[in-house]
Amino acid sequence: METKRLTAADYLVAANLLKQGKLVAFPTETVYGLGADALNPQAVQQVYAVKHRPTDNPLNLTVSSFAMVKKYAAHIPDAAKLLMENFWPGPLTIILPLKYAAINKIVTNGLPTIAFRMPDNQATLQMITALGDPIVGPSANTSGRPSPTTAEHVLQDLGGKIVAVLDDGATNVGVDSTIIDMSLAQPMILRPGVITADEIADVIGQPVMMQKEAATGSQKYKHYEPQAQVIIVDKVSQFPQAIAQMEQTGEPFGIMATDQVLAQQHVVRFKEQFSLGDSVVSASQHLYDGLRYFDMYPEVKTILVQGFPATGIGIAYMNRLEKAAGHHHFFKKN
Ligand code: AMP
Ligand code: MG
Repeated sequence: METKRLTAADYLVAANLLKQGKLVAFPTETVYGLGADALNPQAVQQVYAVKHRPTDNPLNLTVSSFAMVKKYAAHIPDAAKLLMENFWPGPLTIILPLKYAAINKIVTNGLPTIAFRMPDNQATLQMITALGDPIVGPSANTSGRPSPTTAEHVLQDLGGKIVAVLDDGATNVGVDSTIIDMSLAQPMILRPGVITADEIADVIGQPVMMQKEAATGSQKYKHYEPQAQVIIVDKVSQFPQAIAQMEQTGEPFGIMATDQVLAQQHVVRFKEQFSLGDSVVSASQHLYDGLRYFDMYPEVKTILVQGFPATGIGIAYMNRLEKAAGHHHFFKKN
């Protein structure tokens, strides 16, 4: 099968493909998603299959209206309503209690809860509205690989396996949505993202917990891994020594860091480099792109990646980087 590359203006074509039970990758503000009609179990089954996603890892419902949430949530706590009003459409996935038997178990793996996401992308919202029902929308990558932030990334993993990708250019946030569980007595962040715990707590007027796993970046499934071993360099001042040690191995290696940090390093042999831009914001935007970039250089077995302080969006950046690196740091953190 040849994967068609549609443009944002083709959202009706995309909606028709979804209606026929086909899989279509779609843009969001965070990463590209893999869409299928959530009410079509065969199509949902295909999403797990083409991603090689373990079937016990539940999917979200990607919606274009509050009415779609009401149809599947058993109830919507006031705090969750506030979050939707304040942050939707936007990079926040909200977990709510599932209305009994409202959707085929294949979507949620039989859980009593369900995740909702309303992405901030016009073409995608129009596509879902035209379909008339929610879609499932996990990231459009092979499970375990870095999430896709461009249509090219989607094609790298899923080209030939899905009918189409709706191409709306590079995403601008770059790290996957914040996930907050609002089905609990006290809200808990399951995955950090660009919307922070503090922003959420401000809106709902109550404290927000951070799941331990979300904070440390450890998780049940392998995540965000490129071919090469990623090693985190926590401090900018550690780069010269890390590079010197890598050069001694005689093996080619990669560096991902800001322009400023790259400019400070001496030119070395055996080196491929990828710019993370000028800040933690641009670094978050380009992290997955950079990890995928080095897959083009199979001789690069190690990538040194700049760490950032874990505050604000740095929490989400470090969470993804820790997973990509399997918690490898060049120098022990003190
Ligand atoms: P992705 O599918 O790549 O967008 O990631 C979505 C994440 O949300 C996955 O890690 C899922 O495990 C998680 N998720 C989806 N539904 C639920 C749910 N009902 N409860 C807890 N986590 C969920
Ligand atoms: Mg994913």
